[in-house]
Amino acid sequence: MNTGFTEPAKKHLGQNFLHEKGVIEKIVQAIDPRPGDVLVEIGPGQGALTFPLLKKHGELTAIEFDRDLHAPLQAAAREHGTLHLIEGDVLGVDFTALAAQRGDSRGQIRLVGNLPYNLSSPILFHALDHAAAIRDMHFMLQKEVVERMAAGPGSKVYGRLSVMLQAYCSVTPLFVVPPGAFRPAPKVDSAVVRLLPKPAECIEVRDRAVFANVVRAAFGQRRKTLRNALNGVADAAAIEAAGLRADARAEQVEVAGFVRLANLLLGA
Ligand code: SAM
Repeated sequence: MNTGFTEPAKKHLGQNFLHEKGVIEKIVQAIDPRPGDVLVEIGPGQGALTFPLLKKHGELTAIEFDRDLHAPLQAAAREHGTLHLIEGDVLGVDFTALAAQRGDSRGQIRLVGNLPYNLSSPILFHALDHAAAIRDMHFMLQKEVVERMAAGPGSKVYGRLSVMLQAYCSVTPLFVVPPGAFRPAPKVDSAVVRLLPKPAECIEVRDRAVFANVVRAAFGQRRKTLRNALNGVADAAAIEAAGLRADARAEQVEVAGFVRLANLLLGA
């Protein structure tokens, strides 16, 4: 069958196309689209998730950077439902504006995607900037990244990504996907994760920029004590006033501890 998708996968765009039916079905089930939901897919590629979602839900917005895929995607989508294709870089898409324009009755969108792995952190941070406009997110990522996202203090992989995401979202790893589910097969295992942004009244961070700065500095030199790593950002007195030990390392501090310290710096 000629699908119209003739281009070979482009490595620099993180193109590993899903082909395993069972995995695709599991992802669609995890998303479980309901009437009234507004789905936005990042990186539809050759439509592995797009078309089953369209079939089930009837309508979908998708953001794809690769211009060689735009026409075949539009053509192949027609028999499944209504595809609104945004042709460009997801990092340039204002999700808040998109949700205001096309969102559900609460002005929110649901983000989904098998993400280009080379851009996963920038995409996650971009989504965080628009968390109030996003009801939930279901992403396929490298398994190792999902482990970092969900890790807690004391874990070797607990770091900036864990703290930043968990301050604003609940993070639930769902299932692991082996390399053979993709063409071409990546070298690593993948995993699907669900992110649920917290309602505004449950977010304790008072200033996002100050919080981000504290977390970046603390983990910038993760083997150092907080006193040294936070030099120029917070002194030992502030660290201790936030209930933390100045000789602790960032990887031992729970999310709430970073939030207390950032909030305290604001009041100083
Ligand atoms: N969803 C498809 C699937 O599961 O087979 C494709 C997934 S593939 C891992 C990632 C997709 O993201 C590719 O189609 C790639 O072209 C697209 N992509 C890469 N960088 C992008 C960007 N900055 N903005 C939007 N899409 C991008």
